[in-house]
Amino acid sequence: MDTFPLLPYIQRNLSVIIFLVLAVGGMFAVYGYFSPEGVSESVQAVTTTGDRLTLSAPISKPISGREVSQRFAQSTPPLAVALIVGHQGSDSGAVCEDGLTELAINTDLAHRARDLLAAQDVDLMLFDEFDVRLTDFAGTALISIHADSCGDYGPTTTGFKVAGSSRADSAALVSCMEQAYGDATGMGIHVNTITTHMTDYHAFRKIAAGTPAIILETGFMLLDREMLTTNADIPAKGIAEGILCFLGK
Ligand SMILES: [Zn+2]
Repeated sequence: MDTFPLLPYIQRNLSVIIFLVLAVGGMFAVYGYFSPEGVSESVQAVTTTGDRLTLSAPISKPISGREVSQRFAQSTPPLAVALIVGHQGSDSGAVCEDGLTELAINTDLAHRARDLLAAQDVDLMLFDEFDVRLTDFAGTALISIHADSCGDYGPTTTGFKVAGSSRADSAALVSCMEQAYGDATGMGIHVNTITTHMTDYHAFRKIAAGTPAIILETGFMLLDREMLTTNADIPAKGIAEGILCFLGK
């Protein structure tokens, strides 16, 4: 292999070499013209807050120990709590021999609960059973109220029950409603009649996934009749307080 032809190489690239030499020289000239002390001081003024005497600029910029908070405070979304008046706009639901309907009970309880919540500045929207607003409803909570059959199935057909949607974390809403409704009415939970009609409730599948939802069977129309009619203000208070509990109020 031949030795590298240095001289012809320099001649061929003379203009580039002259440019590089001038550029390096120019940089030193500019650096010298602006005093190095002045440069390092201004760098330090930017990067440090303390009195540093070294000329080296720190790599990291010191920041205060204060926690950095979000630049824009996240505004809380408006409350959107909806309550389905069981069977409203569809049918009467269960019917007693004397003509008392489940729809009448559901409607009365819903209106009383809405009024109680309005007094607490909570707007409760009342939905029909198959309300068009259920489709993709993305709210704070959805509660559907129903009452159990008026049939005579013996002395154990008394009590209420709550079933939550499995398409969202509804555990907090279930537990708030169980606690508040049980406390207000003194009724027990009638667990063994929770059916797939409750757990696979049609509205659970219509609303937006992620919206906590429950269905509440407020009691049996035969044995709990007095509580659901004459004393309707008591279960209505339980419903309202279950919602307030969930809202953290
Ligand atoms: Zn019903």
